[in-house]
Amino acid sequence: MSAPRPSMVPTTPMAIAPPAASASSAARAVPEAVRDAVAAALAAAGTRVRRDEPLARHTSFRIGGPADLFVAAMSVPELQAVLRAAHAYGYPVFFLGGGTNLLVSDRGVRGLVVALAKPFDFVEWELGGDGGALRVGAAVPFKRLVSQTVAAGLAGLEFGEGIPGTIGGGLLMNAGAFGGEIGRVVTALEAVDEGGERVLLPRERLGFAYRRMALPTRAVITAVCLRLARGDAAVLAAAVADAKARRDRHQPKGHPNAGSIFKNPPGAFAGRLIEEAGLKGARLGEAMFSERHANFIVNLGRARAADVQGLIDLATRAVRRQRGIELEPEVRFVGEW
Ligand SMILES: Cc1cc2nc3c(=O)[nH]c(=O)nc-3n(C[C@H](O)[C@H](O)[C@H](O)COP(=O)(O)OP(=O)(O)OC[C@H]3O[C@@H](n4cnc5c(N)ncnc54)[C@H](O)[C@@H]3O)c2cc1C
Repeated sequence: MSAPRPSMVPTTPMAIAPPAASASSAARAVPEAVRDAVAAALAAAGTRVRRDEPLARHTSFRIGGPADLFVAAMSVPELQAVLRAAHAYGYPVFFLGGGTNLLVSDRGVRGLVVALAKPFDFVEWELGGDGGALRVGAAVPFKRLVSQTVAAGLAGLEFGEGIPGTIGGGLLMNAGAFGGEIGRVVTALEAVDEGGERVLLPRERLGFAYRRMALPTRAVITAVCLRLARGDAAVLAAAVADAKARRDRHQPKGHPNAGSIFKNPPGAFAGRLIEEAGLKGARLGEAMFSERHANFIVNLGRARAADVQGLIDLATRAVRRQRGIELEPEVRFVGEW
């Protein structure tokens, strides 16, 4: 399958004015005109905008149709300007991290996909005898932060060995493993809300729960402040080695995937339920429930989002029928279905 080539938007002046009211219905009624206007406004402000960017390039599943518009913001002021422009037109925006927990539809995303570029990949350290206070950019890879903090003798993130994606996405998902989760070490978040305003959110305003966080307002996380305790280097190294060994033993390798497809229901394991339903190894098109761990769906090559969705539906119905348990997807559905 040859992916469409991304194109740059023309730097023509704004073709239509932002709608005064009912912005979202305007976006629905004239999507092409609104897209052109938003693209032109962004380009005129100096932002590099890509049209029809294939999202399969940005997801660990290697699946996903094009985003109408795509921007990788280089700074907080640029991010603010981008969000203000989209907001003025009522144009839908999706925030993309590392794309490791997403199932993007084959039709792609009608709207603007915003990612954070390299300047959001930074860590500021303040180390003391009893631990460290860190300010971490949202584009920092989770795995790298784990190895850096462990190397610095700081405890609290060692559970995250092997979790791909960015810190921003990890926060939104309250990523966790082996009894740990990132929410426990967060003291505050920096973000830009949909209207383009900067917000600082203390921990009390972040509703961390199992594999989710409830931001009080829709916003792009730009940085996070973490508090980590001083740890014993040997104990931390052993925890990381143990996490790595467990992943090596149980998780599929070699085929693109998005990690666990379903959340574990209370008191049960989604993988075991899928296996008991006889679906381990079940295949639809080029998507397959992994032979190694049934809660992973792997892309054998050219899987479509529709194939993955079909398997998700199949498992949901089978587990409901056989066990009366409602499986809830952990992976997030994105785009036009
Ligand atoms: C092999 C493999 C193993 C995995 N193992 C684990 C595991 O052990 N534990 C676990 O919890 N997860 C696991 N995952 C899932 C995934 O890696 C995590 O959920 C990860 O934290 C998602 O981060 P991301 O940057 O890829 O986010 P994305 O997938 O890009 O996005 C996830 C959500 O966060 C939002 N988002 C992303 N960035 C931002 C931002 N800056 N501001 C606001 N919203 C944002 C997106 O809109 C989306 O709703 C695994 C995935 C894979 C492929």
